[in-house]
Amino acid sequence: MYAGIIINSNSVKLDKIFTYKIPEKLKDKIALGFRVKVPFGMGNRKLDGFVVGLYENVSVDDTRIKEISDCCDEFALLTSKDLELVEEMRRRYLCTYLDCIKVFIPRGIFKGMKDKKKILVYTGRKLDENFNREPYKSIYEVVKNENGRYTKNFISKNYNLSLSSINTMIKHGFLSVGKRTVARYDNRKYVDYSKKILNREQQFAVDKIMNSYKKVFLIHGVTGSGKTEIYMQLVEKAIESGKESIVLVPEIALTPQMVERFKGRFGRDVSVFHSKLSDGERYDEWMRIKRGQVKLAIGARSAIFLPFSNLGFIIMDEEQELSYKSDSNPKYNAREIGEMRCDQYGCKMILGSATPSVETYYRCKKGEIELIVLKNRADGAVMPEIKVVDMREELLHDNKSMFSRVLYEAIGDRLKKKEQTILFLNRRGYSTFVSCRRCGYVFKCSNCDISYTYHHNMGKLICHYCGSKIDIPKVCPKCGSRYVKYFGVGTEKIEQLIKSEFPQAKTIRMDFDTTRKKNSYENIYNTFKEGRADILIGTQMIAKGLDFKNVTLVGVIAADLSINLPDFRSAEKTYELITQVSGRAGRGEKRGEVIVQTYNPENYSIRCAAKNDYENFFNEEIDIRRRMEYPPFSDILFINMNSKNENILIKNIQNVGIFLKNILEKDDKIEMLGPCPCEISKIKELYRWKIMIKGKIDLNLAWNIRKIVYDLLKDVYNDIKVSIDINPNSML
Ligand code: ADP
Ligand code: ZN
Ligand code: ZN
Repeated sequence: MYAGIIINSNSVKLDKIFTYKIPEKLKDKIALGFRVKVPFGMGNRKLDGFVVGLYENVSVDDTRIKEISDCCDEFALLTSKDLELVEEMRRRYLCTYLDCIKVFIPRGIFKGMKDKKKILVYTGRKLDENFNREPYKSIYEVVKNENGRYTKNFISKNYNLSLSSINTMIKHGFLSVGKRTVARYDNRKYVDYSKKILNREQQFAVDKIMNSYKKVFLIHGVTGSGKTEIYMQLVEKAIESGKESIVLVPEIALTPQMVERFKGRFGRDVSVFHSKLSDGERYDEWMRIKRGQVKLAIGARSAIFLPFSNLGFIIMDEEQELSYKSDSNPKYNAREIGEMRCDQYGCKMILGSATPSVETYYRCKKGEIELIVLKNRADGAVMPEIKVVDMREELLHDNKSMFSRVLYEAIGDRLKKKEQTILFLNRRGYSTFVSCRRCGYVFKCSNCDISYTYHHNMGKLICHYCGSKIDIPKVCPKCGSRYVKYFGVGTEKIEQLIKSEFPQAKTIRMDFDTTRKKNSYENIYNTFKEGRADILIGTQMIAKGLDFKNVTLVGVIAADLSINLPDFRSAEKTYELITQVSGRAGRGEKRGEVIVQTYNPENYSIRCAAKNDYENFFNEEIDIRRRMEYPPFSDILFINMNSKNENILIKNIQNVGIFLKNILEKDDKIEMLGPCPCEISKIKELYRWKIMIKGKIDLNLAWNIRKIVYDLLKDVYNDIKVSIDINPNSML
């Protein structure tokens, strides 16, 4: 017997299947998907490899084939279905076998983790007067309640208790350490979240999904329409018939509300995956699933690869979220992987959103996806009123502040009534655009229909799709005003302004800076939920999923920041943003109010979002996509190269550009833009350039392009890093 082996080495040159002999002693142990040790290269160094094929015979000289030395684990890490996916992913996402294999396996396996851990136990010894104080009292209580369940690291992290104080207590014999097979996963008890009686729309959705032969469904439901309840009842049906489910949510929506609901309904047997789990926690959750002890997992994108064996549903909430696509290898899209797994398991995929992606909705129109619509909020709350404020008018009235008069008054009003306010600032990336503050005119590239980006150091406007440059105009070409300025504002500045205008207000900020630590998100969330702050100021991470009953005002400070992103999805993202933040207002009995500030009140994404009219938004947007040949009517293949050495980089990418132009020229449906410097032309010492290819790109062409790029760069691998991505989230 022979085995096809993928070597566990990151070198692109080793990205092929090597053949090894399976020795007699390992015949019964080794099967597809096992991790093994093999001698490799001239020195026969022992490396790990994965068995991806088994063959009776080989066509080459048998004596030259080396033998597998050993088998690493008691069980196969990958199933044959996983291996099919690996094959398909490599082709589709232009990466290596190993890149794909690694997403199926938790890192703990490679670190040699085992099930036995050191756990904290309670010794029974009473606290004496030296220890009868904090933090010892809390530690004592926690360990007493959770006796023998957790490691000290877990307790320290999850209950926010100091590790050194725990160690002190061990030293003094109040606690001790035992060794046992225990769970590192979150095993806390959650408050019951009782099953609801479905309303008509929800019941219709569940029935349709259960009875239809379609594979993929889209639940397009307004914010608060009770999509989560539908997901939960589907999961329950799956469990009743012995099947498993994966519920995917965007990373930022994962803590803590979704978890509370699912654990509150399904108990401890729910696995939860997010980026802040330790390797140990992840390993344990993975093992629980592998052993079949868990029927449901909720997690961010990579949870799509969890080792379930009998899937019933794959549910993807907020399906339009860009975070479902990975931007490092393998650059997969979880929506696509979900559909592949559905084909393998004969299961169904449910996409849910209040603002579906244009790509998905287009597939509904073509009949590929079954559309289910929920028009009403489930708990009877009314949709908030959305007011669009024209900031040009404010200027005419000599108000140059960041707050319009309406918003200013509304904030004061809520403070008086003791109701809460959310102020939202959409600021993604580094982009700044230039616009006329009198008429709202924004400078755009005519080739690409993309807003020009202001580059401070050069003093120029640059289109970051095609690289074209213009000088910053002194006067507005539309109205002749000289009030042409670039746009820039941050959450901190807003907080300062609130503090000076409303000194009595308690504010809290949620953005990248304030949420870096573990649990910080949860802390801010709880502070606001419990009413210990009046105004929450934040970036996109507060737009989604949060459900606060006392919020009756939401202010969008500058909708223009997202309309004018240099990105073909900017209109879609603006529509989404306004809808999502609006969904945060008036979730309780009181009706909510949303105030959207903009210099472009007539822009269709704002107009339609204010009326909650997705259909018309979609019709306008799909026309533009068709005309400009953006997805879903084409694909964008993005080649990014970076290097410390600018000269080598430019020389090589230009060479690649010439080769590619040659083969692409024959096809008039394909357009190549660049090579040119990236929008962010240098990150941490690395210069960055790019090539963009737009059009109908099939898998063979894409693989061919990849091959050309890698071949041409063969001699400069050490100097130049290259990344190839199909339909990337961002082309900055
Ligand atoms: P979505 O996910 O669609 O935005 P949620 O699932 O958050 O909406 O539901 C909004 C609110 O409605 C929640 O507070 C939820 O508990 C409540 N809800 C959902 N379904 C029902 C129902 N059938 N009866 C009563 N309340 C419901
Ligand atoms: Zn103007
Ligand atoms: Zn352009």
